[in-house]
Amino acid sequence: MLPRVVILDRDGVINRDRDDYVKSAAQWEPEKGAIEAIAKLRALGCWVGIATNQSGLARGLFSSADLDAMHQKLRGLVRAHGHEINAIAHCFHLPDAGCLCRKPETGLLHQLQTAYGKSFVSRETCMVGDSHKDLLAAAAFGIPAVLVRTGKGRLTEKHQAIKNPVFDSLKHWVDSLA
Ligand SMILES: [Mg+2]
Ligand SMILES: [Zn+2]
Repeated sequence: MLPRVVILDRDGVINRDRDDYVKSAAQWEPEKGAIEAIAKLRALGCWVGIATNQSGLARGLFSSADLDAMHQKLRGLVRAHGHEINAIAHCFHLPDAGCLCRKPETGLLHQLQTAYGKSFVSRETCMVGDSHKDLLAAAAFGIPAVLVRTGKGRLTEKHQAIKNPVFDSLKHWVDSLA
């Protein structure tokens, strides 16, 4: 069934992840078919939000201007297909900061829900992630999630007892919807 709301993780789902962090717009490279997949979701009428952990900010690896530039690049690529991403929420804290936004906490999902303007209805919402943290955040928030094998996905699939549906990529999941 086509979800009304789709929440995407960023690194390893929309763009290629890097072990040394994606630190600039130049290093921000889309996964194959991901931009087209987001445009297709929007064309199908889905509200698309992004929830991304960006501890590299707190680590001083890049600035908020760099992060803005990455997200302008992402938004521009989707716009080139005639569509807009609805909202992007990021956590800039370190893992041990005890914040309530870094996934597997649910703060980013609450922020996106506020941007959406009403509750995410479980059966009409889906989160897409490549790491266990994404799946845990979705479960804690009470929405379904799928795992993709891009980014850390293959490791996640191997090392965690995942009960979520698994797809090769964001593109493969979107193509399965319609
Ligand atoms: Mg990821
Ligand atoms: Zn945070």
